[in-house]
Amino acid sequence: MPREFVGRYLRLLPAVDRVLSEKILLDTQKEVPRAIVAEAVKEVLDEKRSIISGAALEKELDLLNFSPSTLAKEALDKVSLKMEHNLRPVLNATGVLLHTNLGRAPLAGAAIKAIKEIGVTFSNLELSLKDGKRSSRFEHVEELFCRMTGAEAAFIVNNNAGAVFLTLNTLAAGKEVVVSRGELVEIGGSFRLPDVMSSSGACLTEVGTTNRTYLKDYQKAIGESTALLLKVHTSNFKISGFTAAVPSSSLVRLGRKKGIYVMEDLGSGVLLDLSKYGLPYEPMVQDSVKAGVDVVTFSGDKLLGGPQAGVIVGKSRLLERIKSNQLARALRVDKFTLAAMEATLRLYLDEQKALQEIPILRMLTASADLLQHRAEKIACKLKNNLHEKWRIDISQEKSRVGGGSLPSASLPSWQVSLQLEGVNAHELARKLRGARPPVIARVRDQKVLLDFRSLSEEEDLLLLKAIMDTFGNSGEQTEVRDEK
Ligand SMILES: *Cc1c(COP(=O)(O)O)cnc(C)c1O
Repeated sequence: MPREFVGRYLRLLPAVDRVLSEKILLDTQKEVPRAIVAEAVKEVLDEKRSIISGAALEKELDLLNFSPSTLAKEALDKVSLKMEHNLRPVLNATGVLLHTNLGRAPLAGAAIKAIKEIGVTFSNLELSLKDGKRSSRFEHVEELFCRMTGAEAAFIVNNNAGAVFLTLNTLAAGKEVVVSRGELVEIGGSFRLPDVMSSSGACLTEVGTTNRTYLKDYQKAIGESTALLLKVHTSNFKISGFTAAVPSSSLVRLGRKKGIYVMEDLGSGVLLDLSKYGLPYEPMVQDSVKAGVDVVTFSGDKLLGGPQAGVIVGKSRLLERIKSNQLARALRVDKFTLAAMEATLRLYLDEQKALQEIPILRMLTASADLLQHRAEKIACKLKNNLHEKWRIDISQEKSRVGGGSLPSASLPSWQVSLQLEGVNAHELARKLRGARPPVIARVRDQKVLLDFRSLSEEEDLLLLKAIMDTFGNSGEQTEVRDEK
């Protein structure tokens, strides 16, 4: 079908340079590279060209505005999207405190401050200020880990998977490691104990059954080439019912008798007794050390609440071997991790301070009453400001710790639920992910649930604003349209 108007409209479109010379884009070019602004203008013009070529009737194009100033405004929106970082903060309203997809533990203010201080200038990362000689970067945190856990020595690598790998490689490559069948865990992502074991060069000897393993099972499995007895904390599931597992202290006794080392992978590195604060007991690092376990590994960014890291604590003579393994260099942490870890550990020197200032501990121990109060406040503001087609309620629900920690704990929490007549809740959740900052929510029973357990109090207003910016004008229409 000949559409003689197409050429005429295409000729109406201004040139790229003409749009670029609009004042708002000239101002933008003071901060944003010209190439990026030009790319945005070209994209806007391309979109207009395809609208024009796709139009069936001339009158579809009548209302469109092709003036340079209008196109410049559209380009500016694209520029801001292009300049937004790919990795950015989100509001975690899922109720899951340690969410691998959401970056696990948020850092304490003191840790952020330390990263900043160390990042902007030079530091004594590997220099002894006493004698001016080279020193080890790990010393900055080793003494603190020893003090907190009672261990003789400590080492830190990139993550706990690395800690387990390095320890197995150092102490058991080419030899056998005995593990209970009830503890051959998969943590998610790609940490499966049998696989980590085989890539470390150690051979797995499975003992016992899924639900019951006894000391005699370990005893029978020990042979010529046994290097380690390994206990793994089943951190993301719970076997209940007819079960039996061997406590670390019994493994230690057996290991001593046979001259075999005992290793424990704790997963979450808990440094304080959470049961004092109404939470289920989670094994503490200091308990394993006290029980005599030779090497203990745990994560830095689970319940410890620090940066991503894997920590190895234990007997000096074993830690010496681990530290001098060639692979340690490949798993080495950077100065930011060390700065953040040291600052986090220093908070632990005063338990109350740790509970107050380490975000994950504060969220974990927040009272349900406080969460209820916050949820009520936000629900009330939303009711007052959103259209009446919205249904806003609050309810008490359980939230989970997540991230392979406290598998059986469900914490009482309060949630605000959102529903909009005629609109699918998954669609509302998708819109919220596009908010600024993005809001990550759960959907259940056709409701979007915003859980306050995983949000810090300072984030409440940000949450309110993100929701209002996203939904403030919708409600008249039964469909939420793409907001521009
Ligand atoms: C989480 C976990 C790991 C892996 O730790 P990352 O720090 O994620 O590498 C290993 N073992 C156990 C038992 C865990 O819970």
